[in-house]
Amino acid sequence: MIQPADFIINNAKVFTSEESNPRAEAVAIKGKRIIFVGDNNSAEIFRGDKTRVIDGQGRTLTAGFIDTHVHLLSGAMWMGHAELREVRTREDLRRILLSFANENKTDDWVAGRGIRYGIVSTRQELDEIIADRPVYIGAFDGHTAWANTKALEMAGILKEKKDIGANGIVVRDKKGLATGELREGDAMDAVFDLIPRPNENRKRELLMLAVKEFNKAGITSVHNMNGDMQELMVYAAAEDAGEMNLRVYVPFHVLPEAKEEDLQEAAEMAKVQMDYVRGGAAKFFMDGVWESYTAFNIHPYADDPNAKVEPIFSLEHFTRMATLCDKMGLQIAVHCCGDGAVRQTLDGYEAMQKMNGVRDSRHRIEHIEVCQPEDMPRFKELGVIASMQTSHAPLSLEDDLVWTSRTGEERWHYAFPWRSLKNAGATLSFGSDWTVAPFDPMFNIHVGLNRVKYSPADPDQRLTLEELIIGYTRDAAYVEFKENEKGQIKEGYLADLVLFSHDLFEMKPEDIKSAKAVMTMMDGKVVFEEQV
Ligand SMILES: [Zn+2]
Repeated sequence: MIQPADFIINNAKVFTSEESNPRAEAVAIKGKRIIFVGDNNSAEIFRGDKTRVIDGQGRTLTAGFIDTHVHLLSGAMWMGHAELREVRTREDLRRILLSFANENKTDDWVAGRGIRYGIVSTRQELDEIIADRPVYIGAFDGHTAWANTKALEMAGILKEKKDIGANGIVVRDKKGLATGELREGDAMDAVFDLIPRPNENRKRELLMLAVKEFNKAGITSVHNMNGDMQELMVYAAAEDAGEMNLRVYVPFHVLPEAKEEDLQEAAEMAKVQMDYVRGGAAKFFMDGVWESYTAFNIHPYADDPNAKVEPIFSLEHFTRMATLCDKMGLQIAVHCCGDGAVRQTLDGYEAMQKMNGVRDSRHRIEHIEVCQPEDMPRFKELGVIASMQTSHAPLSLEDDLVWTSRTGEERWHYAFPWRSLKNAGATLSFGSDWTVAPFDPMFNIHVGLNRVKYSPADPDQRLTLEELIIGYTRDAAYVEFKENEKGQIKEGYLADLVLFSHDLFEMKPEDIKSAKAVMTMMDGKVVFEEQV
């Protein structure tokens, strides 16, 4: 007796991400698993009285998307702040901040997020918009923020040069007064920490709002790229309450001041292996970002040869801490934007392998905005994964003059080297780094498909739609050691699926952004469905 399915999705263009059976028409689901992948006719035997049949209407069905680099909880908290991503001029900023301030009259603070570089640079510019309430706005990449005079006074850093911590610069003018620009975590936190945090209820509400938005974009799993036990427990509580419609993998953030015994927390987190929420990894930052001259580079900055950058961890320090993590069986992920950071991390991984021996560790490097050609084959040699975010790359030279002028033409050949790394044998996985970039996979795929060379001499780094989807599904599942459970549409696999509004493979690459998820399923439950 064949057990009837709970769902049959038929008439779809199924892209399975599975090599031996890449395409199909229909999928049947029972409970939380896929029980059939094949043609429309054969799927019929699974139809029972209670089976819900979803007509795919010739549109693409893929495995649920896995975003391998997001900041979920902090991003969710940002959802309670003014959205500045679309701001292009100071006038736009004025309009949005004033209306946000007006809608949130009872809050003291006016906080915004996601602004581009080059729109404001001083506290006076913000004072012109709002002077009587403290104002704090964060750059899209999370590495710089700007505050008005009132906020700087409240933080006690306008005049006073108090100790804010090693990882941060309060930019000062000739008189020693803070200009309003705050670079990197400790400087930003000197002000940000004063903004009242949402209470537990509001926190849960914002998290659920974020999860809903991820589902709406076709995302069913994320790798949360920083975290600690407390954050893991917020997700775990949501899973316990039956509200967590997203699988979350949470590494422990190893700060540069962390002591060896602090890694015990990562070991405790690794013991948490729930259906949706789990630990098992450690995250390091080797450097900052090119935009704020904090990327650790091999050659000087093109537009400021005097800018001196030290890595956040020395090679010895990183190797020591990473070796301990590796011994504990943790996966390691390291933020590296500069080519120097990439090289030093690979050196550390190599030294660690010599000490601990080779195991199936799947350690990873995040971002890789520039990589020297001699380091590219080392990803394959050392078994290191390239976790990349296509939409961080300027779509064209004109799209982001700040990034392209910091790096300079010489380095553009090795910039965001997706194709070069793939050719060198590296496994690539994709993500957004939300809130740095929007998490909509179609936006990230758009850049992956349509990026224009910054100089005619550059190699073409674009990827195909198949490669991008595989990096977002099958290979992303591999990155988190779940390749036998999800990331492919295959019998026995978890029913994490997404049906799109179009046959993606029939679309012109330049139109891909107009496609969107119309139905997202996780664990065999419909978690998002477009209402028609
Ligand atoms: Zn990140």
